[in-house]
Amino acid sequence: MKIIDGKKVSIEVLDEIKSSVENRAKNSLKIPHLAAILVGDDGPSQTYVNSKIKACDRVGFKSSLFKYNDSISEQDLISEIQKVNNNDDIDGFIVQLPLPKKINQEKILSQVDPHKDVDGFHPINYGKMALGLDTFLPATPAGIIELIKRSKIQTEGKKCLVIGRSQIVGRPISILLSQSKVFGNSTVTVAHSKTINLKELCIDSDLIISAIGSPEFIKGNMIKKGSTIIDVGITRVDDSSSNKGYRIVGDVDLNSVSDSVGYITPVPGGVGPMTIAMLLQNTLKACSLSD
Ligand code: NAP
Repeated sequence: MKIIDGKKVSIEVLDEIKSSVENRAKNSLKIPHLAAILVGDDGPSQTYVNSKIKACDRVGFKSSLFKYNDSISEQDLISEIQKVNNNDDIDGFIVQLPLPKKINQEKILSQVDPHKDVDGFHPINYGKMALGLDTFLPATPAGIIELIKRSKIQTEGKKCLVIGRSQIVGRPISILLSQSKVFGNSTVTVAHSKTINLKELCIDSDLIISAIGSPEFIKGNMIKKGSTIIDVGITRVDDSSSNKGYRIVGDVDLNSVSDSVGYITPVPGGVGPMTIAMLLQNTLKACSLSD
């Protein structure tokens, strides 16, 4: 079993971004500025936003956090988004998901200026991604592709199973891996909760991307020897032996697959850090495009 060290690769990407920022400063170009909109006080969402802001500091970006009480109305949130759209100093921003249930997520995401949509969730950018055009790729799938690329894992002609069909992970990574690109050209199957023969599909796959959020769901008897697994799942499970009272677990039972898997991303320290690095890369791109 070889571990794909997402933390290490993300540091490489962040260092590259940092040196681009230093070059921009030397050439009197604008310093990239990422903003985050956070609604409510969901614990994991606050943790994710804090990590994004910390990463901005690390690479020399400016960052802003706009926090709203979960009582904010949909219309008021749209007005706040318009303010960020019109703020020339902000190059890119994200609306941290999930939003409170009473707010229509799709309506909100479609209000983000596509030029500042560094999460790549606006229908225009999502459509460009599906067409294989240059755009802001959603950060998690972009991070997976970057990990695969830098770990020199071959995808061409391989049987790839994507488990999960969400708009933010499963659907876009299934599109990217099937495109006619260097790190695409896979034969992709998409599985979801209504799939009936998941174990057979897993055993038949060279590459599994698991994005279901079901702790340690994938076991050793479900995979092909030497296959690669990208574990996107992040679930907090109770753990009284930890100071926090919980630990973070992926979709894959690492101990169970260790004898048969070829390459695997750990959780934590796999896809998670790459997601943040790619968000910053998109922000650098947004800033450069407006030079
Ligand atoms: P989601 O919107 O809840 O989607 C989960 C998907 O998994 C759905 O398509 C669902 O099928 C499918 N699914 C659930 N149980 C299944 C099962 N037993 N067999 C087959 N398919 C099953 O979740 P998401 O937003 O994509 O996130 C997935 C996981 O990735 C979560 O743990 C999340 O925390 C994590 N995540 C990590 C990162 C990162 O940076 N590492 C980023 C985003 C998300 P249906 O469509 O039929 O319901």
